[in-house]
Amino acid sequence: MTLRLFSGATLFTAVTAAVSAQTPAPATPDALITAAKRAAGADHAGTFLRICVAPDNLNVGGPRAGRPGPRAVPDRATWYAKPYRVFDNLYFIGTRIHSAWALTTSAGIIVIDTLFDYATEPEIVEGMTTLGLDPRDIKYVLISHAHGDHDQGAALLQSRYGAKVVMGTADWDATLQRAASAPGGVPKRDIAVGREGLKLRLGDSIVDVIATPGHTPGTLSYFFPVKDAGRTVIVAYVGGTAFNFPRQAANFEIYRDSQRKMTEVAEAAGATVLMSNHTEFDRAYDRARIAQLPRVAGEKHPYETDTATVGRYFEMTGSCAEAQRLLVQ
Ligand SMILES: [Zn+2]
Repeated sequence: MTLRLFSGATLFTAVTAAVSAQTPAPATPDALITAAKRAAGADHAGTFLRICVAPDNLNVGGPRAGRPGPRAVPDRATWYAKPYRVFDNLYFIGTRIHSAWALTTSAGIIVIDTLFDYATEPEIVEGMTTLGLDPRDIKYVLISHAHGDHDQGAALLQSRYGAKVVMGTADWDATLQRAASAPGGVPKRDIAVGREGLKLRLGDSIVDVIATPGHTPGTLSYFFPVKDAGRTVIVAYVGGTAFNFPRQAANFEIYRDSQRKMTEVAEAAGATVLMSNHTEFDRAYDRARIAQLPRVAGEKHPYETDTATVGRYFEMTGSCAEAQRLLVQ
């Protein structure tokens, strides 16, 4: 009897699945936003709000549309964060708002993102020194995209320590057009990453650099292993998030396709940690500090989730981009 009920239920499920496969629900902006909200769940709710509910590029000509002129350095008390060792080989050297990381390897250090120019010395240079890392060991500086909050420290790390700067080809083109007097200066072109991406090897480590155009034309995202008390976990690092580009269908399409690519790579890599370059999107500032607390047996690292949760992030961002693409068409 139990068996019969089971097979009946299985058959019903199979028939339902076959029918829905034949007649997929039409993809409407509303349906996509509902799907994105479900995918976001509680894990990615803040990012969902920022790009799906109130995208930055909704108000063309609004206060965010133009780049301001000279920028005052904000009060240090509003942004300064202490540096923390977060994984065995990954150190948080960012501010309360923007992330920068030092990934240590057997042959030197890879710095990921470099903050505004005013934060480079106190957070990256002094932060590394406080943690017992020598900035002279920096071999590569990975820039997720060429906006000032992530790239203004690149020229200093390149000129002072001889680090090689890695950036998307299109973002190099934009960077090299800056005036020499731009905050932080202008780095010299080192390694340009095209659509094919790059496997960046240093010592015992490898960073899988993925071209994810969208937020900027040269945005780069990363996959790399880190160790949590000797155990390897895979990080998916999102290089650009907000919809701050011109509100055109083609731009949303490019962004959407990058999210689909990230979904595939994240699944193949088995990524269980989702990181972003803005702390509002991955709670880096909180998680870096929580990581300092002792854990009870079996308790996960505060950054570790599972592959499904990481996958739902990219499902959400992809659906939000597709919803906006349909809305502006
Ligand atoms: Zn940006």
